[in-house]
Amino acid sequence: MMNKSIITIEEMRQLLISASDQIIDGEPMLTKLDLQIGDGDHGIGMKAGFSALKTMLKETNFDDFYSFFRESGITLLRQMGGASGVIFCTMFIGGIDILKGKTELTASELAEFFSAGCSEIRRRGKAKPGQKTMVDALQPAADAMTEAAAAGDGICEVLRAGMDASEAGAEASAQMMPGIGRSRHFESAALNIPDPGAVSVSLIFKGIYIRYAELMRSGM
Ligand code: ADP
Ligand code: MG
Repeated sequence: MMNKSIITIEEMRQLLISASDQIIDGEPMLTKLDLQIGDGDHGIGMKAGFSALKTMLKETNFDDFYSFFRESGITLLRQMGGASGVIFCTMFIGGIDILKGKTELTASELAEFFSAGCSEIRRRGKAKPGQKTMVDALQPAADAMTEAAAAGDGICEVLRAGMDASEAGAEASAQMMPGIGRSRHFESAALNIPDPGAVSVSLIFKGIYIRYAELMRSGM
């Protein structure tokens, strides 16, 4: 497998389409989780948002990563509404300022982008790590990507680090007491159930990595 140090808009388009497929296929599981510790709408909202995102990505050309992620976030926001509409929009928009004019991103820039998105979600939504939200998957993913990039890893390893850390974070969220959002009303009844938003984050990073690994295997 080639160890590339930059990623293009064309590649990222395919990665987000794959992430969208993971969310669309994951809808029944996400719905089940949000029925247990929320109001049951998370899977439906995410599926609507990421279906629209997939369509938009197939139909649109982008001048730079700024417009790519801006359009992606806005598409989610338009379709989704509710807490997670703003939250998942912000995951893709919170860090776009560093992307203006860029048609390629380094592994460090990619890590910085997701870190900034996570910081913006935390600033706006006031969730702290450990409160059983999507932050408990996104923050470890951003941190692991930052660490991998700083160690000189290429795009593939950095994306793999993001996938592994987000999955571990989503799993760990099961043992957290809810501290914010609708799930907090469930108190200790929420124990042993992973946070739906955190599971969504892990599905997004899984779709991203799986497709990137395929692209590399096919020699792109
Ligand atoms: P709603 O809570 O409005 O019904 P969803 O069901 O679509 O929205 O999404 C719920 C998810 O949103 C939770 O699983 C959690 O991960 C995430 N969430 C809720 N509040 C916050 C917050 N303040 N910061 C970060 N994520 C949050
Ligand atoms: Mg809900």
